[in-house]
Amino acid sequence: SRVLLTGGSGFIAAHVLDILLERGHSVVTTVRSTEKGQKILDNHPKVSKDKLDFVIVEDIAKPGAFDKAVQSNPPFEVIIHTASPFHFNATDTKKELLDPAVIGTTGILESTKNHAPTVKRVVITSSFASIIDPSKGTRPGYTYSEKDWNPITEEEAVQNPSNGYRASKTFAERASWEFLEKEKPNFTISTMCPPLVLGPIVHYLQSLDNLNTSNQRIAALMTGKAKEELPPTGTFVWTDVRDLALAHVKAAELPEAANKRFFVTTGYFSNEEIADIMRDNFPELKKQLPAKGTKGGGYPEGGLYQYDNSRVKEVLGIEFISLKESIVDAVKSLQAVGA
Ligand code: NDP
Repeated sequence: SRVLLTGGSGFIAAHVLDILLERGHSVVTTVRSTEKGQKILDNHPKVSKDKLDFVIVEDIAKPGAFDKAVQSNPPFEVIIHTASPFHFNATDTKKELLDPAVIGTTGILESTKNHAPTVKRVVITSSFASIIDPSKGTRPGYTYSEKDWNPITEEEAVQNPSNGYRASKTFAERASWEFLEKEKPNFTISTMCPPLVLGPIVHYLQSLDNLNTSNQRIAALMTGKAKEELPPTGTFVWTDVRDLALAHVKAAELPEAANKRFFVTTGYFSNEEIADIMRDNFPELKKQLPAKGTKGGGYPEGGLYQYDNSRVKEVLGIEFISLKESIVDAVKSLQAVGA
């Protein structure tokens, strides 16, 4: 198919892009600057312009931002919308998180409906943030799945940065299902709801200074920042970026994936386990890493919620990469950019 992929410079999108090309799709990706777009083209020297190109969308929060981008010749059949801010340093939650997430999502759906009648499927990167109810804590005995929705309110959204991010994902995904119901567009929607995403960075897009949020805990371990005490794990479920990227592409390809959410979760992890894997596999990092048994970074006492990832396995056929492989490959990719 011919695919419009938003935010191609992002950690997850870079892998989606490569899997799309591998599987024979042709891709136009949106980026915020010519420089970023050119970098992507330069690093795919064997791929022709009709298979891979970019278009500039500077700010997805602007109304009509995607009106031009969704139009192409030959026309698109698929939209994969990954672009959305993921960080915890917003000072203005509405402007920096909620608007780009919500207006970005409804905006691309509107532009698609109005200007890209050939699009049959839209895949949206949502998050476990839109599933989990953080007010319930570690929730032992409860199983999270696609049926769950984070009940976060507009008021709670602006209380702290992590609420801000979670609300941005929840409101954006809700808005996409509401759009489908109200507008009855020509396309179906699939949403991807991963928890913490780990794994290798694509070297030409990221550096230690602009490292994506979810890999920062690995970089912190590598650079000795967690030597005395491991930081709290926070979220205790994860998935590998390559599995998540493949899930996006399969959701675009498979008719059975239409109009479904997918809780793309591999399993549990803790920061302590990440440190153990790094210590076992990278003896050269011994000085920076916390010694075995250093306090912090473990699982909560008293148990933890369970997760149901059966839909991802059954409908999308994903076989999950192990935590060990994910961490080893992530560390190698970070070493390659100078960590
Ligand atoms: P990145 O920060 O690497 O990617 C975010 C992408 O969104 C970048 O391409 C960024 O462009 C773009 N973007 C952000 N804000 C805007 C804006 N206002 N206008 C235009 N583009 C914008 O993070 P990830 O790859 O991790 O995140 C991708 C998606 O996955 C997001 O939707 C995120 O919420 C979701 N997700 C991520 C998880 C994780 O653990 N990594 C977990 C669950 C969901 P630029 O780089 O130019 O700023």
